[in-house]
Amino acid sequence: MASWKTHKCDSCHYSFVGSGKPDALMMGPTIPVVCLKCNEIYDRIIHSPIGEQLNGKCEECGSKKYTEWDYESKKCPQCKDRVIEEDDDGFVIMAD
Ligand SMILES: [Zn+2]
Ligand SMILES: [Zn+2]
Repeated sequence: MASWKTHKCDSCHYSFVGSGKPDALMMGPTIPVVCLKCNEIYDRIIHSPIGEQLNGKCEECGSKKYTEWDYESKKCPQCKDRVIEEDDDGFVIMAD
């Protein structure tokens, strides 16, 4: 089970909903990654527990190119200046 939260940049108003850190879904473990094409952060399943081929892609643009998001420094991928913070007013979903 994973809890997803809204994360927001206070500078450019970019936001995403995700775990924002390494987590796990039913499909397998996930890490937060940044799409190299549109700079969208999303949770990507890094490998399947049953060794199945995964075709993870950006939900925004469909690109499969990504880089790991540095979830410790939490830099905003859009303005690359400010830090992304968890939004207390965000919602939490149980991805189970
Ligand atoms: Zn920003
Ligand atoms: Zn994208």
